[in-house]
Amino acid sequence: MQQLSDLNCKGKRVLIRADLNVPLNEKLEITDDNRIKEFLPTLQAVLSQGARATVMSHLGEPSGIDPALSLRPVAKRLSELLGTDVILAPDCVGAEVTKLAADLKDGQVLLLENLRFQPGEKRNDSEFASQLAKLGDVFISDAFATAHRSHASMVGVPKLFKEKAAGLLMQKEMDYYTKALENPRKPLCVVIGGSKVSSKLNALVNLSSKADKLIIGGAMANTFLAAQGLQMGRSLYEPDLAGKALELLGTLARRDCKVYLPVDVVVAPALSSKGLGRAVPVQEIPADTMALDIGPATSLLYKEALHSAETIVWNGPMGAYENEEFARGTHDMCEAIANAHGLTVVGGGDTDAAIHHMQLAHKFSFISTAGGAFLALLEGNSLPGIKALE
Ligand code: ADP
Ligand code: MG
Repeated sequence: MQQLSDLNCKGKRVLIRADLNVPLNEKLEITDDNRIKEFLPTLQAVLSQGARATVMSHLGEPSGIDPALSLRPVAKRLSELLGTDVILAPDCVGAEVTKLAADLKDGQVLLLENLRFQPGEKRNDSEFASQLAKLGDVFISDAFATAHRSHASMVGVPKLFKEKAAGLLMQKEMDYYTKALENPRKPLCVVIGGSKVSSKLNALVNLSSKADKLIIGGAMANTFLAAQGLQMGRSLYEPDLAGKALELLGTLARRDCKVYLPVDVVVAPALSSKGLGRAVPVQEIPADTMALDIGPATSLLYKEALHSAETIVWNGPMGAYENEEFARGTHDMCEAIANAHGLTVVGGGDTDAAIHHMQLAHKFSFISTAGGAFLALLEGNSLPGIKALE
């Protein structure tokens, strides 16, 4: 895979796929601009080479043209951070867009409107891809967070370019993935949580052959505890996956991968309960309660298990952290990993949100900008958006 430094962009029209899919509130204000900030180094490198840049991204899941999912707020924020005007195109293809791209001068930036306003994007339509490809002489992909999608701008477009490369963010994401999971300093501890085993089962299977320790929390742990015969009351868990869960525990034991499950949990009548949470041993979950967080004994146990780690990979909160009452376990885990001495790599939308809420982001080696693409790597899958650059 070519890197940005291998390309000569001077005086060229550079087409860049970024992932500027940021969260917006009801007033269409950006609530977290991290993905825009992380894209800046690539854009600045291209502009400083004396190129003209056409940037494209999707935002949300529009079905057709939807003013609420316009990239206008992104264009504004990008322009503020860059300190230069960013021209927002009225669409991503068409005569007007072609003219705007052709009229760009060196150092200027054009942002195309939301790629998903056009049905050809998700369908990887070849006609749509060739219209996009005409907007540039060289192609750069920096959209790591979309690299698991075979969409037109991710796969169809790069195939039409001879000169193409990964952007600096794409490169950084892949470098950390390699350091953490392909070629880790051992022991490698993987901390995994979140709501469902089913959504992360393939990741657990793949990690079982890589990790030295697997530390499990969140509602995901409930499924393992239930499979071992514990009464989970009204907890969120997946009874259908009991067989798979037991099979996986067997595999892990044979491979000498140590597994850690909660020894105590915080229970309450409901997700929205206030002031009713209490810690109980996992053997004593009352029938009318839900396990909504790992308990203090488990936090201590997990912290000790992490002590020897040279590499830690974390995906998924330890509890229903959106309710302050059940955020303690995730908070303790966050602190333990933040203070660990080895390499610490994190991915996942909720995990990232929890870390930022706790203001500990600066203490991690690397926080991925991706959820789904990061999970695809944990599953051991190759990413179509990366393959298309090779
Ligand atoms: P990520 O986005 O970091 O990959 P997930 O989306 O897999 O994480 O999981 C996050 C969700 O899991 C959160 O909404 C959280 O409330 C939920 N969750 C975690 N533990 C529990 C639990 N014990 N009971 C119910 N929900 C839980
Ligand atoms: Mg999530």
